[in-house]
Amino acid sequence: MFLSEIYKSMQGEGMLTGTPSVFVRASGCNLRCWFCDTPHTSWHPEGKDISVDEIVAQVEEWDCRHVVLTGGEPMLFAELLPLAEQLRHGGWHITIETAGTLYLPVACDLMSISPKLASSGPTEHPHWSRRHARQRFQPQVLQALMGEYAYQLKFVVDQPSDVPEVVEFLERFPDVPPARLWLMPQGQTPEDLRERSQWLEPICQEHGWTFCPRKHIEWYGPVRGT
Ligand code: SF4
Repeated sequence: MFLSEIYKSMQGEGMLTGTPSVFVRASGCNLRCWFCDTPHTSWHPEGKDISVDEIVAQVEEWDCRHVVLTGGEPMLFAELLPLAEQLRHGGWHITIETAGTLYLPVACDLMSISPKLASSGPTEHPHWSRRHARQRFQPQVLQALMGEYAYQLKFVVDQPSDVPEVVEFLERFPDVPPARLWLMPQGQTPEDLRERSQWLEPICQEHGWTFCPRKHIEWYGPVRGT
C-alpha cells in the first residue's frame, strides 16, 4: 500500500476527539480539494509502498488500540481490505476516514465520511476541477457506507453559502441522525479556524448540528505527522 506516513497522535475531529490513535496515511486521492490539508497525499503524492505485514508491525510498535486509516483516500487501495482484516483480528478499533466516493467492503468500527461540497473544487485547475466535480458526490456509495457501518459525517465548510448544500444533503438522506453530523470550519491555521468558527458555530446551533473544532490544528498547528 502506498503510504505517506504512520504516526501516533490524538484524534482531533469528530466523536473520537481526544482519543490517542495511530494514523496510517495512504498517499493518493481521486479528488483535488483546493484547501486540501494533506497535499502530500493528493496534489503532490509522496511516500513509499509498504506491505500490509510491515504496516501492522509498525502499528504494533505503539501501545495504542485505536487505528485511523486515512489519506488521501484510503478506499483507493485494495490492500485496505487485508490490512483492516489483520487489524481487526488483532483487536484494534478501526476508523476509516474517507470522502465517501469509493466503496470497499472493509472491516471498520467507525466510518468517518467527509463528503466534499461544491466549493471545495479547484477552480484554478480546469482539468482537476472537472474531475473533482464529477466524482465528489456519489450518493450510492454514501448510502452503502451509511447503511453498513457505524458512521459519522463531517462537512468542511468554507463559507456561509455552503450551508444550503448541507441542508440539501440532509433532505436527500433524511435518516441521518443529528448526532452523526459534524460541521468543521475550513482552515489550516488557528486564525483561519477562529474567523470561520465565529459564523459557523451559531449556524450549527440554529440547525441543531454539532460544531466540530479541528483540535489537532489548535493543539499542534498545521504540522505534518499530527
Ligand atoms: S478528499 Fe481529502 S485528501 Fe483528497 S484532496 Fe480533498 S481534502 Fe485532500
